Amino acid sequence: MGSAVEAVFRELDEHIASTTRITGMKCSNLCNACCRTTTIEASPIEFIPLAVWLYENKMVDEFLIRLDKSDQTGHCPLFSPEAWKEGKGGCLNYPNRGLVCRLFGFGYRLDRIGLTELVTCKEMKEKIPAAVNKANLLGREKPDTVPIFTNYAMQLYSIDPDLAIQHLPIGKAMRMAIEKLYFNYTSKSNTLSEQNTL
Ligand code: SF4
Ligand code: SF4
Repeated sequence: MGSAVEAVFRELDEHIASTTRITGMKCSNLCNACCRTTTIEASPIEFIPLAVWLYENKMVDEFLIRLDKSDQTGHCPLFSPEAWKEGKGGCLNYPNRGLVCRLFGFGYRLDRIGLTELVTCKEMKEKIPAAVNKANLLGREKPDTVPIFTNYAMQLYSIDPDLAIQHLPIGKAMRMAIEKLYFNYTSKSNTLSEQNTL
């Protein structure tokens, strides 16, 4: 499942890159305003690649401590103000961030009458209004060329409907992804240790 989700993310990253080359949309240097909010929601399937990474790097226990802390604050468990201050950006595992993290600022939704509408942030609206206008125009004139939230959400839904349909606070979505893979990894390590004792 992890590789199927990663394939969707690769396609999305290329899609966003191709539209931003046209529009000039980009995040302000070291901005992390969207990561600092306490209201981010995501579906567990978005964090299956993160969960795979954590198991494979034996980092699950350490991450669960971060998750417990974030349950109290509401912040994303991967957001690190320290990393941000050191000029490394704020996300501790940027390659394994979720769908919402990739699309926010750059994605489009369909409005009530089916028109494609850009969903972007205050920062970009204030700092690069010309690019935002261009991105809005591109969505209206060539809706088939822009990344639309529901299209990518549907791709994830086709991989695992149960994990894709739920919208949870981001920390809870990450926790559920970790729990989903628990038996895959514990049974794998049991098999390995059984093999080692033969
Ligand atoms: S999407 Fe907007 S708020 Fe988020 S990092 Fe980029 S510029 Fe900042
Ligand atoms: S996973 Fe990373 S990019 Fe996404 S909200 Fe958390 S810190 Fe930000």
